[in-house]
Amino acid sequence: MDIRYIDTHSHLNLYKFADDRDEVFKKCADEDVGMITVGTGRKDSKLAVELAHKYEHAWAIVGLHPINVEVSDNKAREGQELEAGFDYDFYKELAEDSRAVGIGECGFDYFHNNDDTYEQQREVFVAQVALANEVGKPLMLHLRNSKDGQGRNAYDDASEILKTEAKVLGNAHFYAGTQEQAKSFFDIGYTISFTGVITFAQAAYQELVEYAPLDMIHGETDCPFVAPAPYRGKRAEPWMVKQVYKTIASMKNIDEEEVREQLLKNAANLYKI
Ligand SMILES: [Zn+2]
Repeated sequence: MDIRYIDTHSHLNLYKFADDRDEVFKKCADEDVGMITVGTGRKDSKLAVELAHKYEHAWAIVGLHPINVEVSDNKAREGQELEAGFDYDFYKELAEDSRAVGIGECGFDYFHNNDDTYEQQREVFVAQVALANEVGKPLMLHLRNSKDGQGRNAYDDASEILKTEAKVLGNAHFYAGTQEQAKSFFDIGYTISFTGVITFAQAAYQELVEYAPLDMIHGETDCPFVAPAPYRGKRAEPWMVKQVYKTIASMKNIDEEEVREQLLKNAANLYKI
């Protein structure tokens, strides 16, 4: 197949696709859409690698999501298991696989976890930065602030660690930080990515999308979450990433084909695919 679009952050490894996973991969191939399947824990990281071997238009990222780290009183999400600390050797074996193109998603989540769990989240994050350094593959960052924006800031916490610890590049997925924080990521060579949210919340993202250089951004779905317009309310699937590309083009007032080509290049550059 000829891959013309790439969804840089998708979860066809999650239980929401258990019944029709193969059909969704086929639909994406028919639509010329490739995707990176991102792990959130041991089980779905392993599956992401298996899927990447099964499908030529799929690659894997392996790691431990901060919401799946066992901290204080948090509960596992549906289909997920909590992990007490980062199982370095387990993830290293997956990370060394030829179809694994990065480490994550990892970072800080103060939306689902209280920020008094910072130390535990930090330990797991720093271990994943070390693994990324060891295998020489980029980081896929998950950074989420509390609902009211109070307390610790996930973007600042990650930036501070990356500046001193990371020897690899990476991406701040589902970007929802400030323009100033975006600049601090660009300054260390990190990209940011936009999801389907920009298709229905254009006003909130207009300035940031205009500001972000075209060669420093990616389009993603984070499927099964947040389907872009006009599919809102449905389960998101990677082929819907075309709507995100399209919206970036219109918000930046650039030709759609130019955006498509550059976003494909950006993914290829960062993830070596
Ligand atoms: Zn994700």
